[in-house]
Amino acid sequence: MTSTYSLAHLPDHDLLDHLAALVAADQQTTAALLAHLAEVDARALYLPAACASMHVYCVRVLHLSEDAAYKRIRAARAARRFPAIFAAVADGRLHLAAVILLAPHLTDETADELIAAASHGSKAEIELLLAQRYPRPDVPALLQPLPGAVQVDQRAPGPVDAAPPTTKVAPLAPQRFALQVTIGQATHDKLLRAQALLRHRVPSGDLDQVIDRALDTLLDDLERKKFAATHRPRATKAGAATKAGAATRRVPNDVKRAVHARDGEQCAFVSEDGDRCTERGFLEFDHVVPFARGGQPTVPGTRLLCSSHNQYEADRSFGSAFMQERRARAEMEADVTLGLRGLGWTAAEARHAVAQSAHLPAATIEDRMRAALGVLHVRYTSRCSDGAGPCWQTTTACSSVS
Ligand SMILES: [Zn+2]
Repeated sequence: MTSTYSLAHLPDHDLLDHLAALVAADQQTTAALLAHLAEVDARALYLPAACASMHVYCVRVLHLSEDAAYKRIRAARAARRFPAIFAAVADGRLHLAAVILLAPHLTDETADELIAAASHGSKAEIELLLAQRYPRPDVPALLQPLPGAVQVDQRAPGPVDAAPPTTKVAPLAPQRFALQVTIGQATHDKLLRAQALLRHRVPSGDLDQVIDRALDTLLDDLERKKFAATHRPRATKAGAATKAGAATRRVPNDVKRAVHARDGEQCAFVSEDGDRCTERGFLEFDHVVPFARGGQPTVPGTRLLCSSHNQYEADRSFGSAFMQERRARAEMEADVTLGLRGLGWTAAEARHAVAQSAHLPAATIEDRMRAALGVLHVRYTSRCSDGAGPCWQTTTACSSVS
């Protein structure tokens, strides 16, 4: 007897088919729900139910969240005015967010064309579409404390409560975006300092120019660290790549630059249907043929993958059980390294101890820590015998875990 919600027995194909069928059914249900809401709203049946508005009825009687109620009522009213919306929601061309975005712009003249243009668009794509067709004026640059922010910042001692995230980037018109973000006192001070230091180049002090220059500097730094980007590239010495490739999984800088140029800053994973992953964050260099199976860090042998696809490919190559065990071990080693750093050892010493004790049996993190400390104790003892300095750190650390 299997539960409706226990799906571990389903083959992948069946699972995906069921999910697609459920989404299709959900879309049809949503369209029917909007039609019912629209009719109840039009008949004002919420009034005899002792609700002052359709919104109150949805929240109090139907137990929808305030947000869900708000969205569905707005969509239902738009669909009642333009019934083509019902069909578009039922067959999955428009989601609720799309209907709400389109609603203010729908007229008898524009409805059919706008619904067609927005079909299967993401929320961001439809916002862009509308910004291009109905440009809004720029939001004036504004820097001012939010109500209550000063009060929060002045509370001391103790951690300052973070304001809820309010970041928003909204397209206003072609090439123009409004950025709204809440910043802390330190960021505020840095922004003013950058504005002041840039006055000779940006006399107006326009924040968009200050932010643009700050981002240029940040991107240079990040690209250099992540993709080995440089204005003065040096070719790897002849034979060095092969030699390094044979000995290590490390991807040489010139290979990083070439792979970055080839793949762009986007995951290179492509589905069987030819669709490429659009993830641009959490990118990692990946060996096309796993390093453990002889893969070399060459340009054709390396690609950029997002961490999800990197993990997915590793699972496909080695099996998920093996990879889970490997990840658990890596996590434990990271914890032990951190623990050793906390006890005063350098990063190099901690890494050395973890690597040298990797072969020792250790079922728990305490066992692993003890094994790593054993390695360090040997090193420190020999250093002390050479007269290189006292070994109080070793003694303290060893006694603290034994
Ligand atoms: Zn990906």
